[in-house]
Amino acid sequence: MNLPDMNEARKRTRTKPEFIYKDFVNNDKFLGQKYFIKTYGCQMNVHDSEEICGLLDNLGYIQVEDETQADLIILNTCAIRENAHDKVFGFLGRCKHQKKDNPNLKLVLCGCMAQEKSVVDEIMSKHKYIDLVFGTHNIHELPNYLMELDGKQHIEVKSNEGNVFEVGESYKRESKYTAWVNIMYGCDKFCTYCIVPYTRGKERSRKSKDILKEVSCLKEKGYKEVTLLGQNVNAYGRDLEDDLTFAQLLEEVAKTGIDRIRFVTSHPWNFTDEMIKTIAKYDNIMPFIHLPLQSGSNRILKLMGRRYTKDEYLELYNKMKKEIPGVAITTDIIVGFPNETDEDFEETLDVVNQCKYDGAFTFIYSPREGTPAARMEDSIPMEVKEDRLQRLNEVVNKYSNENNQKYLNTVQKVLLIGYSEKDKNKLYGYTETNKLVNVICDQKELGNIIDVKITEAKSFSLDGEAI
Ligand code: SAM
Ligand code: SF4
Repeated sequence: MNLPDMNEARKRTRTKPEFIYKDFVNNDKFLGQKYFIKTYGCQMNVHDSEEICGLLDNLGYIQVEDETQADLIILNTCAIRENAHDKVFGFLGRCKHQKKDNPNLKLVLCGCMAQEKSVVDEIMSKHKYIDLVFGTHNIHELPNYLMELDGKQHIEVKSNEGNVFEVGESYKRESKYTAWVNIMYGCDKFCTYCIVPYTRGKERSRKSKDILKEVSCLKEKGYKEVTLLGQNVNAYGRDLEDDLTFAQLLEEVAKTGIDRIRFVTSHPWNFTDEMIKTIAKYDNIMPFIHLPLQSGSNRILKLMGRRYTKDEYLELYNKMKKEIPGVAITTDIIVGFPNETDEDFEETLDVVNQCKYDGAFTFIYSPREGTPAARMEDSIPMEVKEDRLQRLNEVVNKYSNENNQKYLNTVQKVLLIGYSEKDKNKLYGYTETNKLVNVICDQKELGNIIDVKITEAKSFSLDGEAI
């Protein structure tokens, strides 16, 4: 039994992470058994689930899309906002009843919620039917944990700073054309509202040689696009000796010749001129940047611990727009941070009106236990926060639509990655600027980058036809 410990999770020491190269062990112990996995949250979690699926397939498990058919149900959870909590326990509560029909059914909770002490306390007192809880630092141990399950509840969560596990190409990737590639783990920014530095450990970069090997291997397998992943990719390399900076890494990845390179997420604080130049220089680095604003008010930015002012953000934004031709920029915004005044909120609207983002993820602030902001008194009623969110979304959607209208009748390069949900006769894909396009074309084009004439532009997607 290993329980989460928020005090340990908060610690940052000078200890260097270990680089652990794992061989993938094939083992038919669970041959023919079925598993169902549900993933909540960010791309990092989606990619973790690809690792979990790879591990399970190697144990002989078969993945199913219907949880009622499964012998093993895994929920890979997100802790960023409170609302995931009820969904996760609602889902597991329903699955609990399946144990009557299938006494061998195992229920597992993993991911960021598993790293929260309050969640694990609740599981141990109220949700004894959950068989296994494991955290973000020990995914690779899953096969051992499954083999050890004995009817009792197992809690295996580590709250250390974390190591770097190299698992080779053992991921079961969701797509055959686009791939997530971790370049670093954890976060040391400690924005005062955010739980990530506690659930994911300290900032630690993978060695560039391992990243480049992975990208080359993906290219050889026919992948067209990689997205370099990290909570804050521009901090890449700062913890390594004699290795590359993020700008240098981007350049080396570009030189592999893979068709498309993206990255998420970059903090506005240490986005260097060198990074902007590199993005502008290489055609295979996509002109798309997700640049979280969080708030436009200097007072709130300071309380959030974001390390930039409104003017510094705008200066960076304008530089990107000027130096990277055709770049699309999206953002994240939180409304209702403790004691956010109407004036603070107007400052946020002002930045949105100046930047006219291509899109934005907008959230109502959610207090996360153990973070500094959760201890702040908050006098703003929820109705006010909801009203601000609605007003913000109206402005965000207006600009999103206006930006999309500019694509009408233009020709865009689109990487086609799947069958359109609404119309299976169409394929869907993304422009270089990350706009979703539903395309009338030959279905054989799946996986290709083709020229598409945009025939209709809506707020959240485009329609087009192959030319
Ligand atoms: N590392 C990234 C960054 O710095 O922008 C993002 C990480 S987080 C998974 C994604 C977004 O969730 C954040 O940009 C923020 O807008 C939002 N978020 C994080 N903590 C939150 C909280 N306590 N309440 C509401 N939204 C939150
Ligand atoms: Fe959270 Fe801030 Fe780190 Fe992003 S940079 S993960 S918002 S603490």
